[in-house]
Amino acid sequence: MYATILVAVNFFYISMKWFTQLFGDHSSQAIKRLQPKIQAINALETETQALSDGELRAKTDEFKQRLSDGQTVDDLLVEAFAVVREAAVRTMGMRHYDVQLLGGIILHEGTVAEMRTGEGKTLVATLPVYLNALEGKGAHVVTVNDYLARRDAQWMGQVYAFLGLSVGIVNDQNQSFLYDKGHEEVDAERDEEGSYKVFYEFLRPSSRTEAYAADITYGTNSQFGFDYLRDNTVRRPEQLTQRGHHFAIVDEVDSILIDEARVPLILSSQSNDAEDLYRTFAGVAAHLREGDDYIVDEKLRAVELSDEGIEKAEKILKIDNIYTQENIKLVHHLETAVRAKAVYNRDQDYVVRDGEVIIVDPFTGRMQDGRRWSDGLHQAVEAKEGVTIKAESKTMASITYQNYFKFYTKLSGMTGTGATSEEEFRKVYGLDVVIVPTNRPIERIDHNDFIYQTEAGKFKAVAVKVKELQEKGQPVLIGTVSVEKNELLSAYLTQQGIVHNMLNAKNHESEGEFVAKAGIKGAVTIATNMAGRGVDIKLGGPGCTKEEEQIIKDLGGLHVIGTERHEARRIDNQLRGRSGRQGDPGETQFYVSLDDNMMRIFGSEKVKSMVATLGMPEDMPIQNGFITKQLERAQEKIEGFHFDSRKHILAYDDVLSHHREIIYSRRHKILFNDAEYLETIYQQILAVSPELHETIEGKRESLGEEIFTQVMKDVTLQIIDRLWMEHLEVMGDTRQSVNLRAYGQREPIVEYKKESMRLFHEFEHTWLHDIASILGRIDVQATLKPKTPEPELIEINNKSDTVIVVKGNETKEVKSKKVQQWIDAGWQIRG
Ligand code: ADP
Ligand code: MG
Repeated sequence: MYATILVAVNFFYISMKWFTQLFGDHSSQAIKRLQPKIQAINALETETQALSDGELRAKTDEFKQRLSDGQTVDDLLVEAFAVVREAAVRTMGMRHYDVQLLGGIILHEGTVAEMRTGEGKTLVATLPVYLNALEGKGAHVVTVNDYLARRDAQWMGQVYAFLGLSVGIVNDQNQSFLYDKGHEEVDAERDEEGSYKVFYEFLRPSSRTEAYAADITYGTNSQFGFDYLRDNTVRRPEQLTQRGHHFAIVDEVDSILIDEARVPLILSSQSNDAEDLYRTFAGVAAHLREGDDYIVDEKLRAVELSDEGIEKAEKILKIDNIYTQENIKLVHHLETAVRAKAVYNRDQDYVVRDGEVIIVDPFTGRMQDGRRWSDGLHQAVEAKEGVTIKAESKTMASITYQNYFKFYTKLSGMTGTGATSEEEFRKVYGLDVVIVPTNRPIERIDHNDFIYQTEAGKFKAVAVKVKELQEKGQPVLIGTVSVEKNELLSAYLTQQGIVHNMLNAKNHESEGEFVAKAGIKGAVTIATNMAGRGVDIKLGGPGCTKEEEQIIKDLGGLHVIGTERHEARRIDNQLRGRSGRQGDPGETQFYVSLDDNMMRIFGSEKVKSMVATLGMPEDMPIQNGFITKQLERAQEKIEGFHFDSRKHILAYDDVLSHHREIIYSRRHKILFNDAEYLETIYQQILAVSPELHETIEGKRESLGEEIFTQVMKDVTLQIIDRLWMEHLEVMGDTRQSVNLRAYGQREPIVEYKKESMRLFHEFEHTWLHDIASILGRIDVQATLKPKTPEPELIEINNKSDTVIVVKGNETKEVKSKKVQQWIDAGWQIRG
């Protein structure tokens, strides 16, 4: 540990008038309101510095005591922040700047703090996280990838550990850790390199439950979400991992709550069939031609088959008519196969790695290991690529990020680029955005776009520029939109003899190190948007001397080149933000061409014809205000389009969410042996199946109260889970079919709501019947036999899916789900 006291930089250098003009009333009012608090924290500094390490740590117990005596976290804020700041100085030699205190209060208030890249958001989070963790209900820090969860926890963990709080980390593949203090031997090294390197000494493997039991837990959005879903499929309370949703800070909040929110989280179990079907249909799709047999809607990413196309398919399949009741499934297969062929492109929408199809996020260029497209699309792409087709999976549980993050009593977020998404944060998440001023004035220069006629012309120009910059020694970071474009550009640079690094967001950990070094003299780094995310680019490189840093500053700082306008302005701004951190010099320049996807699909004809009439050679740029404006308008259009599509997903998930809440709370009560509730279910079961009344009572008697309750609990959980899976599937199908029915002028969502109500009623009816029919048939002898170590108490026969019904001397085996229909028709269930 070392304690360099850094000179405080007062953020009041900014005149409030100027700030208001720039960022609007909302942010400046918040800042004005919070100024007295900042002053109060600063006023405590001298006395906090005078405390011994032990006394400083004892503050944690004192705060906890005061909370249990009735004070609130708001009452403690000023003192707690002063304590955390001092702990950070003592452990890491970093003293929170005033603007960082400000950011911390904003996060504590459950707001999105927009703080630019390099403003030190990782450190800012320690303030509200410590304060809110004091309540003992857990504080979650959500990062964009597993590597950042580990990095932030082992880096910031020292502050929390110093103050006596525990830290857990949840990573994918069920890897979890607890922060392990000590390891003095690498402490100094960690302070130096902890911003990009994970010192594993500080991470001790633990169970998932332990990681969540810690005062503070770091993890990715997907792990938090999946753990929630998994917790709602367990059969025993000790398998639960999470302990509620108290307070969360989402780092890079726009990436997580906006960009990633288009794909819901799905937990699935696998079932094997239809592999041949996928191959067959991939073969059929290969025979169909765009134009004659189908048309593609690039904006909607959909295909529409023509009559000729359908006929051709029927001929190949040797089927008379594919549009019949029993062939409906095949229609879906056919459409999916054609979509896989016509709309989903290799190295753009997905990559094939080690015989696997891996999705690439269209927004961020980031590979999404483990994610799969649903509804058979993934299998269709696998069939098209000729790789192994993974078994079709059944959804066991699913949720959108929007609905998961609503569980938190208090949610907040931080990002460098939140303002352009203010409306969505407010409407969807109820989150306000406050723009925090930078610690030092911004020096970066953003140049106007260069526009080229062709992509080749654009890349040639980039290569020439980069060569010039490398010769001069100015470091360059070039952003691309995809792995494919990365490789293409790399070839251009190689041709010019430019030595460079290429980052594809394939390995966040090692790429983090490359990005950390992207500010070294002469460095050229090509990166997709997510590559090296969250890692700071220091001019001169990590641990360089003041002189080395100055050389880079004199060269103009980091030069950022964008090679394509992204679908959202926010993502362009993220790239620009890589340059000019903490008042450094820097410049950014976008190179775009008419071949770019954005221009091709959304650019207006006017622009194209205008450029054509200018008659410029392909590697000559046009800098034209009109065209740049058109581009930005197109971006806004796409942003709106995506916002709508997310709202759409949410509207549908809200319907399901209502059911999910009912079912999960029911599950929860059963899991925790809520005696009163179990008795209620028991009475309901008897009520729906009067004919089984005696049989079930008999079983209850012979099994004894305790075992019977255990059996009933287990049966109930299994039935709920199975029916819930079915419900999810039927709801999914319904969603598709209401969209088809939309042609008949009805609002699909209204239809969906209506239908879902009916389906849920069906669910409500079926589950009690199913439990009754199983309980009525439970083999008492088998249940009473000595138990195997297997914790599941009974094995439910798969056939319990069906029920025997009788009428007169007729007997039938029917689906238990459908049993009501039979009862309505005068049949009785055979006990
Ligand atoms: P952001 O997430 O806002 O882009 P980081 O949290 O990655 O920024 O921090 C950027 C760099 O700034 C880190 O290397 C960190 O060590 C440094 N830093 C942050 N806050 C301070 C501070 N108060 N004093 C000194 N250095 C700081
Ligand atoms: Mg960060």
